[in-house]
Amino acid sequence: MKYPTTVKVRDTLYKIEYVNTSREVSTNLDSDLYCGMANHVNRTIRILINRPSNAILETLIHELLHCITERNPALLTLLGDDKEESIVSTFAIDLAMLLLDNKWVNMPKQDPTSTRRIK
Ligand SMILES: [Zn+2]
Repeated sequence: MKYPTTVKVRDTLYKIEYVNTSREVSTNLDSDLYCGMANHVNRTIRILINRPSNAILETLIHELLHCITERNPALLTLLGDDKEESIVSTFAIDLAMLLLDNKWVNMPKQDPTSTRRIK
């Protein structure tokens, strides 16, 4: 699997950017905590790179689940704002594990933003 740079979620095309620092993921004050962020206004997903490939996949799935929820108002209503984060987090962990354990995806060994290897 190559790192995707765009993704269509329902009727919306998101750009996916891979960044090297948490500050690039989000400008929020607590951005040190962020490994990924989906911006639904400018339709951009930022993923922190320089981490193990399984962590990158999990973050990518996590942000995609947020995008799916955002683009499906009925789903957002079902989940509720207070539960969305925990449900998305749980599903992302299990989906990433399922995809990797069953070898349905092979994450690239190379960081898409540089020639440095990911450990
Ligand atoms: Zn989240």
